Amino acid sequence: MTDIKQKIMALRIPEERILENEPLSGHTTFRIGGPAELLVRAATEEELSALLGLLTSEGIQHMLMGNGSNILFSDEGYDGVVILLDGDFMKLELPDQSGAPENRTVIRAGSAVRLSRLSAFAAESSLTGLEFACGIPGSTGGAVYMNAGAYGGEMKDTVLSVRLMRADGSETFTRDAEHMDFGYRHSAVQDEGLIVLSADFALEKGDRDAIKASMAELNRKRNAKQPVEFPSAGSTFKRPSGGYAAALIQDSGLKGFSVGGAQVSEKHSGFVINAGGATCRDVVTLMEKVRDKVLEDSGIRLEPEVRIIGRDGTELNERF
Ligand SMILES: Cc1cc2nc3c(=O)[nH]c(=O)nc-3n(C[C@H](O)[C@H](O)[C@H](O)COP(=O)(O)OP(=O)(O)OC[C@H]3O[C@@H](n4cnc5c(N)ncnc54)[C@H](O)[C@@H]3O)c2cc1C
Repeated sequence: MTDIKQKIMALRIPEERILENEPLSGHTTFRIGGPAELLVRAATEEELSALLGLLTSEGIQHMLMGNGSNILFSDEGYDGVVILLDGDFMKLELPDQSGAPENRTVIRAGSAVRLSRLSAFAAESSLTGLEFACGIPGSTGGAVYMNAGAYGGEMKDTVLSVRLMRADGSETFTRDAEHMDFGYRHSAVQDEGLIVLSADFALEKGDRDAIKASMAELNRKRNAKQPVEFPSAGSTFKRPSGGYAAALIQDSGLKGFSVGGAQVSEKHSGFVINAGGATCRDVVTLMEKVRDKVLEDSGIRLEPEVRIIGRDGTELNERF
């Protein structure tokens, strides 16, 4: 990796933005994960494109990370390069409105913009539609990737278009929302290995105080129901057809069930929390036990919502 570090520096990415053997536990809301061989922060599209081109041509394993709020990394870490976005990717603005749909105002958010900041900006601009997202601790890029949603809203309801980059950095292009294949916790970004650079949201005019009051109420509900005081990756399992993961887990008597430092939250059975010193192995073992017991009791197979990333970069969700 020293060799690759030199090559990355030759792309004019400053050394202070290239971290070696960086513990991923410090970059994920689960507070779990061994070291990434390299963690690199790209601040412009040019840097990102050059970096992806280099890593692709050198055959170096790599992946994008947003705010790390839906990722479970291996205890052994990640044998490759984890890419974080900042700088230009933090831009949040009201762009030229000539392409805005009738009676809508467009907000443009860089992929590193947190949803809390995005929804607060919309509220300040008296624009409604993103209240649901105010308490989701992800980035715009990660939320588009996941089609994140809460309280009856989803990203797809307000996304107008997404600016994307090919996985090898060779091309950037804009795609309208209707071609993003948005579904429940799904988008085309997942299938095509694309990189989200920014997203445009089309929002309706609303009353600023009412929007803010609604966001405060949603956050109050979230704090009351979810174990926000513990590290986690949010809902561990997807909502299965025919039920709610939390209810199925509770019905199987698994509330509070633990393996090592990983525990099914006492406050919300849909969350596996890091109750203290949990390893990835603890969480995965717990998830397997929960999946098996729920399957035995209800006939419903739970699938992980959290992205489980192996040391060799394999995403283990499909095998779960
Ligand atoms: C306490 C808590 C509550 C939560 N509540 C909710 C909720 O109500 N609703 C909900 O939907 N989710 C919820 N989540 C989960 C999580 O916040 C969302 O899935 C969020 O969208 C993930 O965004 P992120 O930036 O953290 O992505 P990450 O976890 O960093 O990454 C998730 C996936 O997206 C990919 N990715 C990230 N950025 C990009 C990019 N720019 N381009 C391409 N791929 C990218 C990554 O490679 C990874 O595969 C919660 C999590 C926590 C910890």
